[in-house]
Formats: sequence, C-alpha cells, structure tokens
Amino acid sequence: MTLVPFHDRDGWIWMNGSFVPWREAQVHVCTHALHYGSAVFEGERCYGGTIFKSVAHSERLRRSASILGFSLDFSVQQLEDAKRETVARMGMEDCYVRPIAWRGSGQMGVSAKNAGINVAIAVWAWGDYFADRMKGIRLTMARWRRPDPTTAPCEAKAAGLYMICTLSKHAAEDEGYADALMLDWRGQVAEATGANVFFIRDGEIHTPTPDCFLNGITRQTVMAIARARGLNVIERVIWPDELSTFSECFLTGSAAEISPVAEIAGITYRPGEITETLLGDFMAMTRGRLPVPA
Ligand code: PMP
Repeated sequence: MTLVPFHDRDGWIWMNGSFVPWREAQVHVCTHALHYGSAVFEGERCYGGTIFKSVAHSERLRRSASILGFSLDFSVQQLEDAKRETVARMGMEDCYVRPIAWRGSGQMGVSAKNAGINVAIAVWAWGDYFADRMKGIRLTMARWRRPDPTTAPCEAKAAGLYMICTLSKHAAEDEGYADALMLDWRGQVAEATGANVFFIRDGEIHTPTPDCFLNGITRQTVMAIARARGLNVIERVIWPDELSTFSECFLTGSAAEISPVAEIAGITYRPGEITETLLGDFMAMTRGRLPVPA
C-alpha cells in the first residue's frame, strides 16, 4: 500500500473555528509546539458516523491542555460540534479523528505564555491498527521506561511524552516486532507505545494500575465490559517476571481497539475465549449494538 503523505491530501481540516482546505492547514516553523513539545492531542474512532466516547475524548483534551498550563478557547460542546462537522464534511462514516491543541508561533523560548493557543481537527481513514487481529501481534520489550509522575505529567495525552514511544516503536519494528511493551521507571509493566495492556490467567483479568501512564478510555470501557460479563478484573502492580504466567494478553486503545498479543519477547500467548468475547462486545458497543457505559 502506498503511503499518501499527510500534507498532500484532499479534504478539509477544522482549524481554530473554521474549515481550511487540507493542504493549507499549516503552521509556521517557529511554532512553540514544534520546538518544545507543547501540544496535546486525542485519537478517536468514528463508527458508522458516531465517534465512540466522543465527549470523554473532548474532556480529556481540555484536561491535558490544562495540565500543560493552557486553556482552550473551545468548550467541550464546541469541540463536539466541530468534530461532528469535520467528519460530515469529509464525507466519512468510519474514520480516525485527531483533535490537537498546541502553543503557536506568537512567542518563542521556553517561556511562551503569549505564543497563542491553537486547536485543529483532522480526520482520515484508518483501518486496523494491527492487521490480522486474532492471530495476535508480537511485542518486544522497550528500552525506554515510562517516566515517574514527578518527572513528567503522565496523565496528559501530551505530544512530548510520545518521544520515547516513537523511539521504542521504531526499535521494535526494526527487529520485526509490531510494538514494544514499556516498563515504568520502577521496572513494573506499564503499557505499549500507544495502548494499554491486559493479561488473563485462570479466567481472571489482570492489568497494571495506571499511576504513571494514560488510563485509556478504551481500557476503562473494556474493564466495564468484562465486569458486566461477571469477570474479575484486577488492577495491580505487575512485574515482568510474571509475564510467563499468563495465558492470554491483549492491548487496548482507540486506534488499537482490542488487539490480541501472541508474543512478548519470546513468551507466547494464545488469544482465547475471554479475549474474543471482550472483542466481540467491544465491536458491538462501538457499532451501537450494545449500550455504551457512562
Ligand atoms: N497509552 C498510550 C501511550 C496511548 O497513546 C493510548 C492511545 N491514546 C492509550 C494508552 C490508550 O488510550 P485510549 O484508550 O484512551 O485511546
């Protein structure tokens, strides 16, 4: 499949309250976010014209911005309207939605209170994050660790925090893996480079406590689905030496949805009944065939 560069596509991008032709949605080289990583963003999926958990994503965008010390000029309701209009204007029903907010080019330097705050929304077609889903993906271990919450604001979905994710994902891909499992600064299992992680053992579900990484919206949805199914979900500290004791493993995220894992650095898993049941419920929910929990 040829990659169509993102700067050279047809369509419209919502930028600071109005629609701009896709190719003209540009920023200046002297943009604070480009130099200093001062951007926050969301990744959402639209299914049959409805964005899954849209309000939760808009709320998180505003919260992430506020953690980085800036506030958006657009309310949750305005963001909701803008996302809906962008999807409609692009004529898409099933697509990925990417709102982003960033410090602009009004001022440069570490201090940038007058840089100006921008918000944009782009949507594009995006199929399975990991193809051939039930076969399961292969992960390696990342060299980089999720930082201590006193080192970086880990609750924000902040662009700067993705530097170590891209490094880890590229290193994994160079070795033929789909992704990497990151530990946290203590050496505990944390998450993948763009998705949360779950494990299954003896019919119970285990997942790391999100005290230094994103408590994903999909993660919370999957926990609710599992509990509604009467499954025991245990949030706790998970050390890497436990990885070989689990039978199933999967990742969750708005892009990844529920992605079964077949291997983590030589330890193998067999995507099984529980993963398949949760995946089925999740797919039904995103497509409006099961009620979405609040
Ligand atoms: N962790 C990271 C690092 C991510 O990028 C994502 C995707 N946003 C997640 C977890 C999962 O979050 P969500 O389910 O809200 O998409």
